[in-house]
Amino acid sequence: MKKRVLSGIRATGKLHLGNYLGAVKGMLALQDDPGYETLFMVADLHSINSPYDPKTFQESVRSVVIDYLSAGLDPEKSTIFVQSHVPEHIELSYLFSSVLTVARMLHLPTYKDKLKEDAENANMAMLYYPVLMASDILIYKANEVPVGDDQLPHLEISREVARKMNEKFGTNFPEPTQFKTQGHSVPSLTGEGKMSKSVEGSFIALTDELETIRKKLASVPTDSGKGEKVPTEGGVATLLKFVELFMGAEKRQEYENAYVREGIRYSELKNALAESIYKELEPIQNKRKELESSPAFVNQVIKDGAEKAGAIAKETLVEVKEKMGLI
Ligand code: AMP
Repeated sequence: MKKRVLSGIRATGKLHLGNYLGAVKGMLALQDDPGYETLFMVADLHSINSPYDPKTFQESVRSVVIDYLSAGLDPEKSTIFVQSHVPEHIELSYLFSSVLTVARMLHLPTYKDKLKEDAENANMAMLYYPVLMASDILIYKANEVPVGDDQLPHLEISREVARKMNEKFGTNFPEPTQFKTQGHSVPSLTGEGKMSKSVEGSFIALTDELETIRKKLASVPTDSGKGEKVPTEGGVATLLKFVELFMGAEKRQEYENAYVREGIRYSELKNALAESIYKELEPIQNKRKELESSPAFVNQVIKDGAEKAGAIAKETLVEVKEKMGLI
């Protein structure tokens, strides 16, 4: 039997290189592996735990579907759907919430950070997020989850839920694991922390033009270009990571050698890097333009996806309700 894969991206703004390298690239690799059945969703229900605009929300949801298709997700090979179109996710998540303690959820780093930074918006949906995520994954009995490292604490909750449900009720959920890509942790352009939609100046969007990419890279903080030890953090480390991801490990080694010898000229590095990044993004941007003028096709993908995902989800939900004595 084929192994299953589930992953999702929230509809909270433009996709960036972190999403692309940490999640989408993994989705693409698994979609093309005949050993896997792949399901990819737009996580709309996970998007409403932060302030958002209901008037433009449908556009944002659709935009992620278009990003998926532009990047190469293929509805002939993968089930592409919108999370809320399969409401069984929510029902199963409630059943799962009975095997998790509030104390465990309060301990998760994302919720703790939110409480510290923005307590007013640390809502129940935010606390509940990993419970729903466990349901997103386990409702398809997915084994592999292509996500970035920031999702690891949440994935751990999914594994705990699977174990507890199996022990308590005799279900047969697999313990899902991360499918790790080369870009499982993409650093911020600021040189501090990870690339994130919510941090202005930290990201390159998939829709950025060459000039914009140049400008963004120009603002990455650097040093004199020369020293005894190659920096492992800050802007220089970020640039070297991007060189590795877009120009290859050999090129990174060349720049590292230059750093401890003759020195790096950052203007040259940044220009070459901007071109390499744009070379990868340009076909995605062209495909996006095509898809934007094919709304009927996009609608059909969303409709078919909900049907296919819904059929699997319904089956799992009935099975769990039976085991839990609800039917
Ligand atoms: P989100 O935008 O939070 O819904 O994230 C969508 C996917 O992108 C998740 O799998 C994240 O783990 C991944 N992701 C987001 N930021 C990064 C990053 N800086 N590096 C690697 N993966 C990331």
